[in-house]
Amino acid sequence: MCGIVGYIGKKCNLKKVLIDDLKTLEYRGYDSSGIAIFDGNMKIIKAKGKIKNLEESLKKIDIKNSELGIAHTRWATHGEANDINSHPHRVGCVTLVHNGIIENYVELKDDLIKKGYHFVSDTDTEVVSALLDDIKKKEKDNIKAINKLTLVLEGSYALGIIFDDDYEHLYAIKKDSPLIVGICDDCNLIASDVTAIIEHTKNYMLMNDYEIVRLSKDKVEVFDKNLKIIQKEILEVSWDINQAKKNGFSHFMLKEIHDEPTVLKNTISEYIKDVHTLVNKMPNFSKYNKIHIVACGSAMHAGLVGKSIVEEYANIPVTVELASEYRYKKNFYDKKTLVIFISQSGETADTIAALRNVKADKIDTLAIVNVVGSTIAREADQVLYIRAGVEIAVATTKAYMLQVAMLILVALNIAYVNKSMDVEEINKILKEFKKLPKFVDEIIAREKECFKVAKEISNQEDVFFLGRGVDYALSMEGSLKLKEISYIHSEAYPAGELKHGTISLIENGTIVVGIMSNDKLAPKLLSNIKETVARGAKILIITTDNLNMEFDFDCHKFVINKVHNILQPILIVVPLQLIAFEVARQRGCDIDKPRNLAKSVTVE
Ligand code: GLU
Repeated sequence: MCGIVGYIGKKCNLKKVLIDDLKTLEYRGYDSSGIAIFDGNMKIIKAKGKIKNLEESLKKIDIKNSELGIAHTRWATHGEANDINSHPHRVGCVTLVHNGIIENYVELKDDLIKKGYHFVSDTDTEVVSALLDDIKKKEKDNIKAINKLTLVLEGSYALGIIFDDDYEHLYAIKKDSPLIVGICDDCNLIASDVTAIIEHTKNYMLMNDYEIVRLSKDKVEVFDKNLKIIQKEILEVSWDINQAKKNGFSHFMLKEIHDEPTVLKNTISEYIKDVHTLVNKMPNFSKYNKIHIVACGSAMHAGLVGKSIVEEYANIPVTVELASEYRYKKNFYDKKTLVIFISQSGETADTIAALRNVKADKIDTLAIVNVVGSTIAREADQVLYIRAGVEIAVATTKAYMLQVAMLILVALNIAYVNKSMDVEEINKILKEFKKLPKFVDEIIAREKECFKVAKEISNQEDVFFLGRGVDYALSMEGSLKLKEISYIHSEAYPAGELKHGTISLIENGTIVVGIMSNDKLAPKLLSNIKETVARGAKILIITTDNLNMEFDFDCHKFVINKVHNILQPILIVVPLQLIAFEVARQRGCDIDKPRNLAKSVTVE
């Protein structure tokens, strides 16, 4: 995963510039970080843990104003998170930072050891530095040397490289890991993501696999695979720097939950005028009789909500699969199958690999993505953008909600094409959809109620989420949200399945969260909840005001307004996110950067 950034330009306090830029990438990994600055000498400083540790270490080091440097925040794949394994890695005349995994690093390392190289770290990255240094012994031209390196490396990489024989340039290359180039008047930059360059410029280039870029203070040259100079399109970042700030909130996650009403409106408004607008603005779904949804993590949970509603309202079968499984298994699709890939970043490695497999089989693909111009957005046949803006907290909130919203629009669209719903009903739902941002806002305004419930949960060791149908899909997201940021063990169960095993884990005081929004299934869920009450469970029920159920056992209830069943998931998820947030806050967890995680999972 990790974040890389590199700068070449006007002389400045580069340690501050690089640290500030790197901090915007910390969501990508925070096991350790490091910096290499050339200020007449090559200075490399590394620190275990978050970037603030590196910042502290840098205070003790004298670095003059400088024009050239690279920096890295790591999510360790090879070798533990310690100072030595941190990037940049310097061998001979090569200093570099790396995002990705080198799959053949063991054999490459063996060869290099035979040639006399010594390795100090356990990383695959140090092998890349040594290999490039070795290539440089025969190949003086740096572009040709990088090209030769790509012929030998297997795996994924975005590399930022400084050569000792050329401090006038910064070099970079990528394969299967993201890399952009920022273009400014007084400097040029490389980064894993535009968030790192936005303080400097809105203009950037997206790098494609195997393209090599050579940056100087005032020039950016891109070489294709055949080492011919090519002209790249200059794109403009569409969002504002303020979106990447906390704006008074204690945490990005809380800020992003509070963004939900606005981003929901931004995402749906272009589609929901009436059914004809919806159909005209979206891809033509008429030829499909089957859908596969492929995603990871919360995006996969959004897919499960999508399955439930597309099958129910649009009347076609949907399978939902984890990209990491789908990419390696036998899949049954044909020309009437649409495969939908969901990814916030559009850079999720497993999802990209699955997409490429499906495309190779010439099956139609559609991406639901947040980041404009990301790999998945570019490579899928069609793309529907959610408009979440920047999402920085590692645990997704607003992007998940918008993925669900987009799948609801897809379901309504297919329902129209299939005539499985009549036009009046679809128009009625679209009208109600317009009110949802306001309803979401009203639920967020009740955050204190959620925070009160959270107090009960924060000292628990196990929490169980129960639901049936679409409420089960929502339970899975509620459970994931809680465990990823609060480190409380939790499980989501289809309520009817509990007694086939998991009920053995319920004991006096175990918290059970029941999600009950489906009128038809509510009595069934209630029976299952009672089975846990009989075994001492403490209950929280999230339900809708139409059900108006009285319970003959003690419980916390969080009641939200009833909307059409197809829209209900958008409201249900809000208290789940708020509760998870508050539990983690009460436990003193690092909410925006939970341990061991990174936001965009760009390695397999
Ligand atoms: N494989 C490299 C390491 O473990 C880079 C990891 C990453 O991309 O996060 O240091």
